Amino acid sequence: MSAAPANEPTFRQSVDLMFNRAAALMDLPPGLEEKIRVCNGVYTVRFGVRLRGQIQTFTGYRAVHSEHMEPVKGGIRYAPSVDQDEVEALAALMTYKCALVEAPFGGSKGGLCIDPRDYDEHELEQITRRFAYELIKRDLIHPSQNVPAPDMGTGEREMAWMADQYARMNTTDINARACVTGKPLNAGGIAGRVEATGRGVQYALREFFRHPEDVLAAGMTGSLDGKRIIVQGLGNVGYHAAKFLSEEDGAKITGIIERDGALYDPSGLNVEKVRDWLIRHGGLTGYPEANSVADGEAVMESDCDILIPAALEGVINLTNAHNIQAKLILEAANGPITAGADDILRSRGVVIIPDLYANAGGVTVSYFEWVKNLSHIRFGRMQRRQEEARHQLVLDELERLDHAMGDAWNLSPSFKDKYLRGADELELVRSGLDDTMRTAYQSMREVWHGRNDVTDLRTAGFIVAIERVARSYRAKGL
Ligand code: GLU
Repeated sequence: MSAAPANEPTFRQSVDLMFNRAAALMDLPPGLEEKIRVCNGVYTVRFGVRLRGQIQTFTGYRAVHSEHMEPVKGGIRYAPSVDQDEVEALAALMTYKCALVEAPFGGSKGGLCIDPRDYDEHELEQITRRFAYELIKRDLIHPSQNVPAPDMGTGEREMAWMADQYARMNTTDINARACVTGKPLNAGGIAGRVEATGRGVQYALREFFRHPEDVLAAGMTGSLDGKRIIVQGLGNVGYHAAKFLSEEDGAKITGIIERDGALYDPSGLNVEKVRDWLIRHGGLTGYPEANSVADGEAVMESDCDILIPAALEGVINLTNAHNIQAKLILEAANGPITAGADDILRSRGVVIIPDLYANAGGVTVSYFEWVKNLSHIRFGRMQRRQEEARHQLVLDELERLDHAMGDAWNLSPSFKDKYLRGADELELVRSGLDDTMRTAYQSMREVWHGRNDVTDLRTAGFIVAIERVARSYRAKGL
C-alpha cells in the first residue's frame, strides 16, 4: 500500500489542516490557536552503536507537542519511515487524543529510523538501551516529565529495556517504573495493556452502534452482528480489533490486507489462523484457507460495511478516496486518512470514527498503568475479597428467604459464580476503558449533533479536545 502521493500535504500539515478546520469554528483568544497547534520542541539524536564489528549510526527523535499537562505521553516507533514530520504529527495527535479521553497528559511521540527486522534481539537491546540513555539524560524519559509507550515496531520487550535503563541511571527514584508504560506484567506492566488499543476499537464500535441515528448516518441499521469488516494491517492493533469483533460481537472479517497482499472471504476469515500464518511466514502469501489477492488496494476499495485501517498513516489519500466503498471507516491507525481524502469522503457521506478517539484505548490503559506504578499497588488488591464477602452476605440472605418461601425459586449456580467474584485487575482495566470510550464518544457526539456547523465526528472530536487544552492554558494564566 502506498503512502500519500506527493501532491498532498505532509502528515503534520494534514493534522494541522484538521485542527484548523475545528479551530475556525471556535472562539479562541487571539494567538492561543497557534500556541496550541505548534509543536513545542523536537529533539533529534544521532548515536552510534558498535554492531557486527563496526559502528552504526542511528537517528532518533522525541517530539513534545504540548506541555499544558505533564508528564507528556506518547509511544516510540521503530520504522524506516520515521522522520521529524512524522513524530511531530503523531505528537500533536497525542495531545488531542489525551484531551479527548481525559488522560491527564500533554502530547509527545518518539521514533527511531530503523527497520527492526534487520537486527537480532541482542542488537535491538543494545540499540534501544543507547537510545533510551540519550533520552533519559535529557528528561525525555521521566516519570513526571515524559512517559513513552509502545508504538509500531516496539512492544513490551523494548519498554522493559527502557524502564531498566532508567532504573540503572536513577537508582534512588522510587517511581522509576512509571517512566514508561506498556511494560510486561512482571516488570510493572498492567493486565490488558497489550490488547488495549484493539479492545478500545471494539468498545468504540459498540458505542457507535448504541446510537441508531449514527448507524443510520453510515447507511446501516441494527447491531454489529453480521457486519462485514475489512481490516488493513494485522499487527497488534488490527489483530486484536478483528479478533474481538469477530469472536465477541458476531462481525465478519471479510478482508485482511497486509504488506504483501490481501485475503478475501465473504463468509468471514478466521482471524486467529490468519495471524498464526502471518507470524510464521512473514506475510499472507500462500495462506490456504481463503482467496488471496495480490493487489491489497483492490480489497481496501471493495464492498464492506466497515473499513478499519490499522497500520500506516496516509493509506487513504487523494488517489483512492473516491474508490472506497465502505460507508463507515474507523481509524485504528494514527492518520490513515489524509486531510484531502477526509474532504472527499465527507462529501460522499462516509462516516469516519477518527483516530484521536478510535485508537485512544492504548493511551487510556497506559494511564492506568502509570497510576498503578505511582501507587505501587495492583488495582483491586485491597477491595477484591471484601467485595466478595459483601456479595456473599447478599446471597446468604437471598437463600435464607428462598428457604423461608419454601424453595419457590432458586438462584442459578452461574449467577452465583458471576455475582460472587470480585473484580481483578483485568476486569477493572476493561471497565475503565469501556467507560472512557463511551464517555469520549458521547462528548464528540454532543458536538456533532448539537451544532449545525459541525458535520463530522473528527471536527467534533477536535473541538472537544482543543477546548480542553485551551481551558488548561487559561487556568495557567496564558
Ligand atoms: N502509541 C500509542 C498511541 O499512539 C500509545 C501511546 C501511549 O500509550 O502512551 O496512542
